[in-house]
Amino acid sequence: MSEDKFGRAMHKVTCSECGKETEVPFKPDGTRPVYCRDCYMKHKKPFDRGGGGGRNRDY
Ligand SMILES: [Zn+2]
Repeated sequence: MSEDKFGRAMHKVTCSECGKETEVPFKPDGTRPVYCRDCYMKHKKPFDRGGGGGRNRDY
C-alpha cells in the first residue's frame, strides 16, 4: 500500500471502464464504479472547469 502526498492511504483498484490498475485515495465501497485518472476525467462534467462552482458567470 502506498500513500499520496497528503499521507492518505491509497487503495489499489481496477478501473471500471478500461480495466487498468490504479489507486484511489478512498476506500471503494463496491457500490460505485471506480475509475483511473483518465477515465475519471472523461466522466467528469465538462462544465466543471476549475471546480469553483462559478458557472453562472457570464462573459
Ligand atoms: Zn480507466
